[in-house]
Amino acid sequence: MKPNIMPVSLGNYPTPIIKLERLSKELGKSIYVKRDDYSGIELSGNKTRKIEYSLGEALSKGADTIITCGAVQSNHARATVSACRVLGLDVHLVIRTKYGKEPEGKEGNNLLDYILGAKITYLSEEEFKNHNEVIESIKKSYLSEGKKPYLIPVGASNGVGTLGYFSGYEEILTQERNLDINFDSIVCTIGSGGTFAGLWLGNEIHNKSKNIIGISISEGPDYFKEKVQNIIKEISIYFDIDFKDILKKSESSLDIVGGYQGGGYAISTKEERDFIEEIALKEGIIFDPVYTGKAFRGLVSEIKNGGFQDSENILFIHTGGIFGSFSYHKFDS
Ligand SMILES: *Cc1c(COP(=O)(O)O)cnc(C)c1O
Repeated sequence: MKPNIMPVSLGNYPTPIIKLERLSKELGKSIYVKRDDYSGIELSGNKTRKIEYSLGEALSKGADTIITCGAVQSNHARATVSACRVLGLDVHLVIRTKYGKEPEGKEGNNLLDYILGAKITYLSEEEFKNHNEVIESIKKSYLSEGKKPYLIPVGASNGVGTLGYFSGYEEILTQERNLDINFDSIVCTIGSGGTFAGLWLGNEIHNKSKNIIGISISEGPDYFKEKVQNIIKEISIYFDIDFKDILKKSESSLDIVGGYQGGGYAISTKEERDFIEEIALKEGIIFDPVYTGKAFRGLVSEIKNGGFQDSENILFIHTGGIFGSFSYHKFDS
């Protein structure tokens, strides 16, 4: 089943699937990780698959300038800049910082935005509430210069970006055949919902009965259920099939787990950092403090508390985020 839009090619696929041997023994289940953190365009994690479709659409519309937005350590914003540099496109970021100023000491993703020469408009937290208006006015000024701007929303979690994880799901099906494993559950982090929505849709369109489980790292499950339903509605225009039953099912059967967001978006607690260190020591794999560290901790806690009874083989998607770690200097306190 192919969507009616061509992605640009930026990633290294298929990304590897590895088994966490020691953790699997400890939990009595086979825990696998799909290394989408290795996806490409300078370790852009899940954003690579999404941006391939967003930029595919942008190019099909003749765009030459990409505008997107996010927090100062946004993986998505930095991934967009990397991708635009690979393709020779202009790029303009709208970035939220505490006081709307350019950070003095650059670090993590913001440092890479700088190295990659991104044009950046900084907004304060207050100003960012109206970022859509700011983006519209930036778009207008490009149009008046005769440029062709294209907007990508936060996290590329709209219909078109989400196609990246529909095709990511198909990649997993092929890997299952090659590895001779059946994954009972596929688990991912939910930050803005696109990764989860794409995997869920893949499972529906391919008529599989895997559990697709998202673990939220910011808002609660009700917020994201509605958001994911809206993404699924938006994505329907990219397929030549009837979405009626799929949309109906999305109203009742989205499996989104809350309770692991800790202090909230990008706030990392000591327990969470200890967990990241524990897994790094045990398996040599590094999860990030904003997204995957919280979600993987959620997965392990759920299993320890008796969840995932019906699952023998569990696949967690490592969606990336390594550069975010470099802005947490006090990892050990
Ligand atoms: C953006 C991001 C996510 C969240 O993905 P969504 O599709 O927005 O839910 C998860 N992990 C990492 C590392 C990210 O950068």
